[in-house]
Amino acid sequence: MTESQLSSIPRWKALLAESLTTAGQLADHFGIAADKLAPVIKSFPMRINPYYLSLIREPGDPIWRQAVPDPLELNDAAGMADPLCEEATSPVPGLIHRYPDRVVLLATEQCAMFCRFCMRKRRVGSMTWEDRLDATVDYLTRTPAVREVVLSGGDPFMLDDGVLARLLARLRAIAHVRLLRIHSRMPCTLPQRVTDELVRVLQDAQPLYLNIHFNHPGEITTHVREACRRLADAGIPLGSQTVLLKGVNDDPAVMHRLMETLLAMRVRPYYIHQLDRVCGTAHFRVPVERGLAILQHLRGRISGMGVPHYMIDLPGGGGKVPLIPAYIVEKQPDHWVLRNFEGRTFHYPLR
Ligand code: SF4
Repeated sequence: MTESQLSSIPRWKALLAESLTTAGQLADHFGIAADKLAPVIKSFPMRINPYYLSLIREPGDPIWRQAVPDPLELNDAAGMADPLCEEATSPVPGLIHRYPDRVVLLATEQCAMFCRFCMRKRRVGSMTWEDRLDATVDYLTRTPAVREVVLSGGDPFMLDDGVLARLLARLRAIAHVRLLRIHSRMPCTLPQRVTDELVRVLQDAQPLYLNIHFNHPGEITTHVREACRRLADAGIPLGSQTVLLKGVNDDPAVMHRLMETLLAMRVRPYYIHQLDRVCGTAHFRVPVERGLAILQHLRGRISGMGVPHYMIDLPGGGGKVPLIPAYIVEKQPDHWVLRNFEGRTFHYPLR
């Protein structure tokens, strides 16, 4: 892109245009060999925008692991392309209808950064969002049980402001759809996306909730703080989602720092997700016992508002269930024995 073309487009788009997308670019930037990475990128696309790239301190650090392809992605025999059976619960292209009252609308397959652990590795980067909206709105209009629409993807904030505004307006016009929710990683991976215009689009679509995907305290910068401040000041309720990832955040102290920081930014920790068994992500997998230990560490050491639910999405499309550390040690007719966050036990009388 020429300099004059770059100066006429929004900053976030200019940054996106400068993303690393090839093994050669990655090799040039980090001085590493490209030959092992090219086949990985051929199977699972790469996009690392210059902002997120600037957060990498050294090869192998938690930011690097999330963004830079790893040959291990091609060495995962047990992983499945679609372990949650999303395609089987899709009544029209780009819509997942698993729970009676909620749907997930895949607004785009594009993202500001292609996370190496993505649960939708099978589709991100492969298509552009075009003419699906009519079929989606038609399905939602004739399905009154749907009360909430979750916009996901890909990243819905990759849509232009006008396109996003029209999409939200059409969803808002369906009388039985009471709530809109957006799941986005862009306030974290490319916070320059949170422009005044975007904030206005979101304000116009209220009640609308925004869940932002953060995985590591190293992702919280002054840009991110400013983006979250603008969103919170505009009255958009903010939550966070985090994926439990080996070598990134499978450490109680790291998770503690992340949740504390998010709370201070008025982003309420909502979910920690156990990684789905998606093909190409085995090297990120953390044992469930480790996740429970992290949750137990958070409980009692941080405000209850800062303790997210630890969720596992059941393979085969069974839906999400919360995993909770064992606080009930024993049940007797007249009392229960309960364990507190320090591991001490207490009798709780039932009568
Ligand atoms: S931003 Fe979300 S949808 Fe896009 S690659 Fe990352 S995890 Fe997947």
